[in-house]
Amino acid sequence: MAYPLSAESAAWQRKARAYAENELMPYEEQAEMNDGVLPAEISARHKRLALELGFSKMDAPTSHGGLQLPMLDQVIVWEQLGRVTNALCWSVSEAHSWMFDACSPQQIQEFIVPLMVGSRCECYAITEAESGSDPSALATTATRDGDHYLIEGEKWFVTSANKADFFILQAIVKGESDDQQHALFLVDIDAAGAEIIDNPSFGHTFSSHHPTYRFSNVRVHESRRIGAVGDGMEFTKSWFRRERLMIAARCCGAAARLIDMATTFAKQRVVSGQPISEYQMIQAMLADSVTELWAARLMTYETAAMQDRGEPLSLVHTHCSMAKLYASEMANRVADRVVQIFGGRGYMRGNAAQRFYRELRVDRIWEGTSEIQRLIIARSVLKRNLDTVLG
Ligand SMILES: Cc1cc2nc3c(=O)[nH]c(=O)nc-3n(C[C@H](O)[C@H](O)[C@H](O)COP(=O)(O)OP(=O)(O)OC[C@H]3O[C@@H](n4cnc5c(N)ncnc54)[C@H](O)[C@@H]3O)c2cc1C
Repeated sequence: MAYPLSAESAAWQRKARAYAENELMPYEEQAEMNDGVLPAEISARHKRLALELGFSKMDAPTSHGGLQLPMLDQVIVWEQLGRVTNALCWSVSEAHSWMFDACSPQQIQEFIVPLMVGSRCECYAITEAESGSDPSALATTATRDGDHYLIEGEKWFVTSANKADFFILQAIVKGESDDQQHALFLVDIDAAGAEIIDNPSFGHTFSSHHPTYRFSNVRVHESRRIGAVGDGMEFTKSWFRRERLMIAARCCGAAARLIDMATTFAKQRVVSGQPISEYQMIQAMLADSVTELWAARLMTYETAAMQDRGEPLSLVHTHCSMAKLYASEMANRVADRVVQIFGGRGYMRGNAAQRFYRELRVDRIWEGTSEIQRLIIARSVLKRNLDTVLG
């Protein structure tokens, strides 16, 4: 039985599927063969359509012109967008609801509303050379200097910095009474003292890069600090919850497309006189993939529904970790099997299975590795008990 969706949710699913299949998928191979980059007019069309569809403001409150969609609908949209390779679905930035709670009215007007309307683009800079899984090892500092801060440090893997015009940057505050606490800052991408020091290549072919930035005494006015000193980690957790859930959704979409492709291929590919779909070892791979996708989808939808029901944030946090952990590991297993079902054809870059095989790998790493998700889940059950965690 299909998961029961309201008419509105089903309409969002159809719209996102049509955008993914009709507008984005036709350009995947072109992107793959051109370092992820499409002709400017095609990218502009993708962005315009995504804005018209409302993808940049799904989570934004209606009081600020957003759609304030239920989380379940947002997950359903991202699931469909996850069917596309080469990150072509990243055609717009998104204004998250937590940003409207965290930012001042001036910051909302200057930075967050522009994300909604597509006139600005952000990147999120937390990770450093020594601080990836362990944010307590953060070394970037923001030292008070009158009504300014001086930012000093290095940030790694800053996704989309080549497209962004500002960073949301996490640093340790110094020179205040609440010294050594984390805070977030809005920093212009071209601020004096901010420079790219490396732009490494990665396993996928995306037009969004993940460069390393050096911040040398970058002057940031105190009005660019988000919230209070000490709030930084909590805001980052809000970012993580959303990103982890949407990674889970995209992984479900990717796995669904992979299974569709493998099913079609297996029925038409004849080896030793019969379609490979007749071979039970191929059937087993399909069966495991469908079963695991079903489990991941239920977990992802239910985690979204928990948020819509207003369940406690700590439990939602644990569930976002479970959904991300299971869905990303599931999608990687599915991609591996589907490449195998395609045989040599599955190793060609023109085959979406091959691209997913590379692209899905990072979903087990970014926004907290699978090991870190396991720690979050284990700590949650140890602190509470199973009945509290699972209900
Ligand atoms: C393509 C890409 C894009 C990214 N984009 C961004 C971005 O936009 N902004 C940003 O801030 N960061 C970004 N990241 C960084 C990403 O979030 C980190 O890579 C990730 O959190 C892991 O940190 P690390 O690489 O330092 O690994 P480490 O922390 O060095 O971990 C190495 C290994 O040790 C394991 N490990 C660590 N601690 C434990 C533990 N306590 N128990 C068990 N195992 C443990 C990890 O799971 C991992 O397997 C990106 C990374 C990549 C690859």
